[in-house]
Amino acid sequence: IQNMHPTPSPLAVNGGDADDGRNVINLDHGDPTMYERYWQEMGDKTTVVIPGWQFTSYFSDAGNLCWFLEPELAKEIAQLHKVVGNAITEGRHIVVGTGSSQLFQAALYAFTANDASEPFSVVSAAPYYSSYPAATDCLKSGLYKWGGDARNFTKTGPYIELVTSPNNPDGFVRQSVVNRSGGILVHDLAYYWPQYTPITSAADYELMLFTVSKSTGHAGMRIGWALVKDQSIAKKMVKYIELSTIGVSKDSQLRAAKVMKVVSDSCGASARPRENFFGYCHHLMAERWKLLREAVKQSGTFSLPEFEPGFCNFFQCLFEPLPAFAWLKGEGGVEDCESFLKSHNIWTRSGRHFGVSPSYVRVSMLDRDITFVCFVKRLSQIHLG
Ligand code: PMP
Repeated sequence: IQNMHPTPSPLAVNGGDADDGRNVINLDHGDPTMYERYWQEMGDKTTVVIPGWQFTSYFSDAGNLCWFLEPELAKEIAQLHKVVGNAITEGRHIVVGTGSSQLFQAALYAFTANDASEPFSVVSAAPYYSSYPAATDCLKSGLYKWGGDARNFTKTGPYIELVTSPNNPDGFVRQSVVNRSGGILVHDLAYYWPQYTPITSAADYELMLFTVSKSTGHAGMRIGWALVKDQSIAKKMVKYIELSTIGVSKDSQLRAAKVMKVVSDSCGASARPRENFFGYCHHLMAERWKLLREAVKQSGTFSLPEFEPGFCNFFQCLFEPLPAFAWLKGEGGVEDCESFLKSHNIWTRSGRHFGVSPSYVRVSMLDRDITFVCFVKRLSQIHLG
């Protein structure tokens, strides 16, 4: 069990004791500030210095299909997937984007920019990631249109199904649900990393989206990548990024490459166990989920999803998923869970945004220790009646 180290990384603070319930705990966004602590401990290992004269050109690799992809980043993406075993990169085109959010738009464009007589329907099974409907319809495109919950999708005609696995907001592993011939699948694998879920096989889909935001915790770098089988689709995605931003920040790509290299190296046999990035973060997530489940039990006002354990090829052991979000359901007559929690100064995102009932909320599990500890403490003290 080379990667599953025993190092305890206790939550850094003994927060929550002085909490008078008045300060706002904002867990609405999935901002991955939890990861700051690991990177602080790594000191200068990922520091990148860029002189003013460097990287002034638009071009990174003029001969490559994705001409704005830094070769160093391409190399580290392939290496990290190889180390983790979560996706096949051989024979794929890598397209880099300003976050996977830009690549999502690029994928919609690539699949639909043809002579179809009607807009493609874009669907995803509820509860779906709340940005999908908004990002699909923001420009009122004639090429594609949000079609809602994939489970209720009956419209004939071309469609794209978004499969997020593990899913945001509820953390479950997913497969496509529409299963109609001619359907196009986009797999958003932002959370398919071993700190969140067992890595059961190397994903091998047509188009897969990944991001540093949720893998290494560097949301602010705004770097995502797509692994694309079909060359003509990859070319169209590149075209979209050309049209929208003429490429992707080189500074960010080089920083991402450096961070990914440190992550890959941290998993090697010669690295110190405490530095194993996924081991460290998995341990942190396991601790957080344990605290959260205890708090929910103590409160008696909420419920959480239960997960089946799976065998992880990376850690070589069995464990239950530890999602990046808690999908909390209000019980005992709590119908609007977001408002209910807001009255306790806890900000979350209502199930409505994810296409389901407001008795659910999504809560980020990736905030800093101090926020998380205050949150579980406050939650545990909420009792109805
Ligand atoms: N897909 C999913 C499922 C996400 O949860 C997120 C981030 N919340 C994204 C994509 C966007 O990631 P990025 O920061 O790379 O744009």
